[in-house]
Amino acid sequence: MTKKVLLLPGDGIGPEIVAQAENVLIHLIENFDLDVELDTDVVGGAAYDLTETPLPEQTLNKALQADAVLLGAVGGHKWEPLEREVRPEKALLDLRSRLELFANLRPAMLYPQLVNASSLKRDRIENLDLMIIRELTGGIYFGEPRGVFEEGGERVGINTYRYSESEIERIAHVGFKTAQLRNGRLCSVDKANVLEVTELWREVVTEVGKEYPDVELSHMYVDNAAMQLVRAPKQFDVIVTGNMFGDILSDVAAMLTGSIGMLPSASLDSNGKGLYEPVHGSAPDIAGQNKANPLATIMSVSLMLRYSLNRADLANRINLAVENVLGNGARTFDIAEGETYISTTDMGEQVVTAIK
Ligand code: NAD
Repeated sequence: MTKKVLLLPGDGIGPEIVAQAENVLIHLIENFDLDVELDTDVVGGAAYDLTETPLPEQTLNKALQADAVLLGAVGGHKWEPLEREVRPEKALLDLRSRLELFANLRPAMLYPQLVNASSLKRDRIENLDLMIIRELTGGIYFGEPRGVFEEGGERVGINTYRYSESEIERIAHVGFKTAQLRNGRLCSVDKANVLEVTELWREVVTEVGKEYPDVELSHMYVDNAAMQLVRAPKQFDVIVTGNMFGDILSDVAAMLTGSIGMLPSASLDSNGKGLYEPVHGSAPDIAGQNKANPLATIMSVSLMLRYSLNRADLANRINLAVENVLGNGARTFDIAEGETYISTTDMGEQVVTAIK
């Protein structure tokens, strides 16, 4: 059955980078039997300018009906004075909650050609390929009660770290299934020595693990995980963790690879539907200059093919094409070592040409 993919370019460099990802998708549709129907709509500041809301009803409905959504980026100085409720970034939060995207996948892969862009020594990170899975809709960021209250004549700040068994189970399943698609190892990160909620986390993940005898499960405390990510990141295949720990660890893992222009992400619901987007924002400082690196967005298409469109074969073709293009020396300005670099459109065209 034909799958529906909604493109939401958004603001700043969003339209420039999504255009390159769209060319990749069109190439796959025309040459590799990819049965996908593309549609495009507005989101973020671009949507606000047209409709006075960053997530118009029409965009939300299309997103709800799509099998996958590719988002460029939202936000920019122009919309900063707006009320929080109608700021471009609100569209992202609403999309995540309305689509029930509870699992955030962030791969950290280091292309051998970019080994010098990392702050770690070559032997520590060469061939790095790990995946961090962060629970996205629960944990301390959402737990109630929360707030700042008066107590005994002073103010007290409260947040609640809360996970139910079912919330832990569903993210654990994503962790195990992802490990099955990769190298079969899952490390669950918690703070079970101090926090009861993560003691439950550890118990439930262990229980779910019995359904996946082919996956090797380990557990690690979050402080040790942060240290190990910097000391010996190649020991990990897939990491699964809660919202706050995942927020922090995924940024640590991201920086192992050097450039923000290279990092894709996926946010999934329980049926394989997903929102795919580069990790970076709308980069207003370089918007409209045909300079932005489109590879994070193109790699987000690769994740989409693997996790929502059931075409791991095409995901691999994209990954290989990106490797080849980098191997041939193509660099946008953010990953260039010298003065020479190519444009957004040139990088996109080179990837399309390299897809075999
Ligand atoms: P940013 O990620 O947009 O930019 C940070 C730096 O990285 C900038 O110097 C930028 O030029 C560079 N950069 C980012 N993407 C790049 C690319 N593809 N190629 C080359 N260089 C790239 O973060 P910021 O400057 O803090 O935020 C700018 C705007 O983006 C803000 O309005 C913010 O709210 C928004 N934002 C949106 C998202 C999203 O849509 N998911 C995420 C983060 C920030």
